[in-house]
Amino acid sequence: MSNYQPLPVEFKSGAGAWLTDIDGQRYLDALSGIAVCGLGHAHPAVQAAISDQAANLIHTSNLYRIPLQEKLAEKLVEHSGMEKVFFGNSGAEANEAAIKLARLYGNNKGIKNPTIVVMERSFHGRTMATLTATGNDKVKKGFTPLVEGFKHIPYNNLDALNEVAETTPDLVAVMVEPVLGEGGVVIPDETYLKAIRTFCDEYDCLMILDEIQTGMCRTGEWFAFQHEAIKPDVMTLAKALGNGVPIGACLASGAAADLFQPGSHGSTFGGNPLAARAALAVIEVLENNNLERRAKELGKRLLDGFKQSLSGIKGIKEIRGKGLMLGIELEKDCTDLVGLALEQNLLINVTAGNVIRLLPPLILSDDEADEIISRLSGLLIKYLT
Ligand SMILES: *Cc1c(COP(=O)(O)O)cnc(C)c1O
Repeated sequence: MSNYQPLPVEFKSGAGAWLTDIDGQRYLDALSGIAVCGLGHAHPAVQAAISDQAANLIHTSNLYRIPLQEKLAEKLVEHSGMEKVFFGNSGAEANEAAIKLARLYGNNKGIKNPTIVVMERSFHGRTMATLTATGNDKVKKGFTPLVEGFKHIPYNNLDALNEVAETTPDLVAVMVEPVLGEGGVVIPDETYLKAIRTFCDEYDCLMILDEIQTGMCRTGEWFAFQHEAIKPDVMTLAKALGNGVPIGACLASGAAADLFQPGSHGSTFGGNPLAARAALAVIEVLENNNLERRAKELGKRLLDGFKQSLSGIKGIKEIRGKGLMLGIELEKDCTDLVGLALEQNLLINVTAGNVIRLLPPLILSDDEADEIISRLSGLLIKYLT
């Protein structure tokens, strides 16, 4: 179907932060398949784990115990401080599980019309419930009727949150991204998540964090909520969890962890031995190389580098980042930059119309980080002057 508009390039292989196309040209990847290949392409540990698992057992279904899935759940719990995990195959599915938990939480309390507060400019996926939760009209266009029970408020705005509480007695959850990803790499105030935590405690509703893009060490901590030393009730993961092998996870703690009972929810593929093995390999590499620290360090190098190389250039509104999630916001729309960068053998993304989004792999060398700065800065200076 015609729902994608792919760029005119066909990749044949990859290694680390580099992709090679069918003509043998090499490209520096500053996007990692949209924050998926955090360990870069063809990582030897992931490759070995998948190959070995494929040679033994790929799938059994959740009708039977899956020790690799249990081991993966334990690892995620260990790093996050959450308690229980449900596995699906994508971000949208992880968020569907989170939304169902919120509905159960409300319904179990006798709430008639459970309402989930979500944010303007957010992105949560493309299924009916997650596109309804998403705060972007383009994603919803043509798909009415939407799902009931969502209320949008401005991001990073606590007054709006308190206001909505006064008019919404059926509030069951607040669902939020720690940094708006698709929305333009928008970084909220340093105590935003903490304030939402306090709010959710006060109103007895679930704090749901969508860490699908921010999780797995990308922002300089294993999970972005750890920057604020709080813990959500529900957290969703996907993207980098399997380094390209599709897997999503919905983690819960406290009362939310015991809402699902046999029959409440399920997935045929979810957490199968192959996907679980891939994610376990990813976690082992992240652990052994302290990649959350490396993401912080690399993020600073890139941010400082861009600020220096682009200082005084007119047309640049802001350069911002949290770990290896970086945004360069221009005064004008710049979607055409993606194609221009491709011609310079550099893979970038533009989101929200005017924000260059960089999500490079965590295994980047210092030289490769500097190469991203010089290629993109050179292009931008030509583009803007
Ligand atoms: C990518 C993304 C999703 C959707 O994930 P899919 O795997 O495409 O369904 C949801 N939330 C956030 C924050 C994302 O970045």
